[in-house]
Amino acid sequence: MTAPSNIIEIAIPLYLDKTFHYLVPDTMRELAITGRRALVPFGNRKLTGYILDKANTSEILNLKEIIEVLDSELLWTAGELLFYRWIASYYLHPLGEVLRSALPAGINVKSRKGSSGDEETPLAGGKSARHEKFYFPESSQNITRQPGSKALEILTVIKDAGEISAADLRKRFGTCTPQLKRLTELGMCRMEEREVYRDPFKNFSTKRDEPRILHTHQKWALEAITGSLDEQNFAPFLLYGVTGSGKTEVYLQAISHALNIGKSALILIPEIALTPQLTSSFQARFASGIAILHSGLSDGERYDEWRRIRRGLARIVIGARSAIFAPLEKIGIIIVDEEHEASFKQSEGLRYNARDLALVRGRMEGAAVILGSATPLVTSIHAAAERRLKLLELPERVENRPMPHVELVGMKGQKEIFSSSLSSNLTETYENGHQAIVFLNRRGFATFLVCTDCGKTLTCPNCSVTLTYHRQRRQSLCHYCDYAVPAPGICPSCGGVTLSELGAGTEKLEHDLKELLPTARILRMDSDTTSGKGSHERLLSRMNEGTADILIGTQMIAKGHDFPKVTLVGVVNAEASLGMPDFRAAERTFQLLSQVIGRAGRGETAGNVVVQAYDTTHYAIRAAAEHDASGFYKQELEFRREAGYPPYAYLAAFAISGLSEQTVEKHADLTARLLMQLKSELKFRIEVLGPAPSPIYRLRNRFRRQILLKSANRNDLHRLLSLWRQQTTIVSTVRISVDIDPVDMM
Ligand code: ADP
Ligand code: ZN
Repeated sequence: MTAPSNIIEIAIPLYLDKTFHYLVPDTMRELAITGRRALVPFGNRKLTGYILDKANTSEILNLKEIIEVLDSELLWTAGELLFYRWIASYYLHPLGEVLRSALPAGINVKSRKGSSGDEETPLAGGKSARHEKFYFPESSQNITRQPGSKALEILTVIKDAGEISAADLRKRFGTCTPQLKRLTELGMCRMEEREVYRDPFKNFSTKRDEPRILHTHQKWALEAITGSLDEQNFAPFLLYGVTGSGKTEVYLQAISHALNIGKSALILIPEIALTPQLTSSFQARFASGIAILHSGLSDGERYDEWRRIRRGLARIVIGARSAIFAPLEKIGIIIVDEEHEASFKQSEGLRYNARDLALVRGRMEGAAVILGSATPLVTSIHAAAERRLKLLELPERVENRPMPHVELVGMKGQKEIFSSSLSSNLTETYENGHQAIVFLNRRGFATFLVCTDCGKTLTCPNCSVTLTYHRQRRQSLCHYCDYAVPAPGICPSCGGVTLSELGAGTEKLEHDLKELLPTARILRMDSDTTSGKGSHERLLSRMNEGTADILIGTQMIAKGHDFPKVTLVGVVNAEASLGMPDFRAAERTFQLLSQVIGRAGRGETAGNVVVQAYDTTHYAIRAAAEHDASGFYKQELEFRREAGYPPYAYLAAFAISGLSEQTVEKHADLTARLLMQLKSELKFRIEVLGPAPSPIYRLRNRFRRQILLKSANRNDLHRLLSLWRQQTTIVSTVRISVDIDPVDMM
């Protein structure tokens, strides 16, 4: 029997594992369709819900009616709804919450307290759009009366421009309202009010550039991509190109091809603030029709960009992870640049991975998906070996520039920050007028302070981590919760007054480097120096202009920057990231070192790198120093196979946290017990590890435990988790979150 058309399915943005049905009053029949939001009664509240589909049942009794349809425009398409449903199912997340995360905050309703309890009221049409007056010349009119002379000048400008905004006219002529009124009355020009979009490019340059002549490997890669674009079938690629091999040029020309065949392009990059160069190279090539989504936008600006995309005014979208939800239609190509970056994973709320979702959306759209990196994920290398990703290699740098020469220096027993080799290389580079980068993955002055009386280190009272000593701020600081105490101060354990500094951060590095080269212009780039808006760009452009000699920094300086004048890279304490209690520690270290090393020698002068480590034998460090990526991947895959980690197993991580240590412990045990019971009932081969204290046991006052599930079978794991979700009871005193394919295990 066919379904009656007056029942609809609605998703509510609450942590509820189901959708709801409502009746549509006859007056709203045509309006209440998927893509719009509706105000609905829910308990004794009114909430905003998302209209999904017509219900395929008539068996439901006692349904309530929807109150109002909230949108005139459609906010999502049927195709996008399929994508959201996939996400809700895969990440075990309520569909309403998925939709809420996917749509821009600018459209969401504001909640306010009504007289009858909680009531949510829509801001009609979202944040109101800005309108601006535009003037156009009117040529066909017979002019009987001549305007005055300022008006005549204005008219000339309008005629020359063809169309011009009132704001631009004001810039030239000051107030000109009376003249414009007169001209309009005389029929010599016409006014139109139009919606304007805030300009996301106001901080970027508008240099134009032309496609380059590709080198052989670039040409092969491009041909493979354009071939699949022409077929319009899903085609996933891994573009594996060493640092400086010209991946961006391949992206640009592939996008150009997609546009030519009437398709659009979606480009995901790890963090826009860190990569202004990439964004401006897109702008220089394509000039218009680009939308940019990044964390620096206000809700209103983001909503502007979102609407431009929804209305088909932008055919290229560039953004960080959340751009995977961009309302772009006819997608021909999705590019994930620096696909190995952990920042594609959202770590709170809907814990999705935009790199993985690029493949899902690409499959649904029949698009080419390009995962690009100089240091791909171990799992991507494995997928390419199994031919689930088509491998495109750029094994050489452009114009046959050599990879930098790397010297590995053992630092055992060394007290100074700089080895004699790094000191002399820095001096020589500076004297030759070249630029250098020094990398240390630790900000602050000393790593921590130790009491010489009792031997205790200063730790954060809210988090179980040591405090970092920042000399300029005269504070010991927690890098997780921002707790700060005056430093050096006294020892909180024994009252001792002699605290000694252990380990070094970027601040100490800067201090020592100034002693070594007092006249050098030194910049420091870490989260202490880049909190201001546009500060990244300023630091990066000083390197590009050549008004700085040495850039010191944390992992921020490793991100794809192209500084042609940098000939020396120094790495201090290369093993800093190896000590992380995470099975990816070796992979991350290899990627980070290879990326930093890759900043050297990208211009005409060959590059030199000095890597300092206490233990120079670790395979991640050796492989990075020897440019032996395939050796690294081979060894790492071996380790993953033996230990049962991805790509040989699928993971899900439970995080249980709360303010009371006992309650957290109890619920962690209950959770593990339920999982064990379900697993044995189902006879699934799933490992349940834990509960165990999380590596950071206390964070912002909350106690944290974790349970890790491992299985070679993704479906089994998914079924177990769905059952767990149905059977678990929610308590308000502990937070239990499930992270599918976790990336951060801290
Ligand atoms: P990657 O992202 O692979 O590290 P880039 O895309 O930044 O490398 O390219 C490195 C440099 O080489 C850039 O300055 C780029 O403009 C230049 N380049 C890219 N392709 C070519 C080419 N075919 N011929 C000459 N220069 C190129
Ligand atoms: Zn803290």
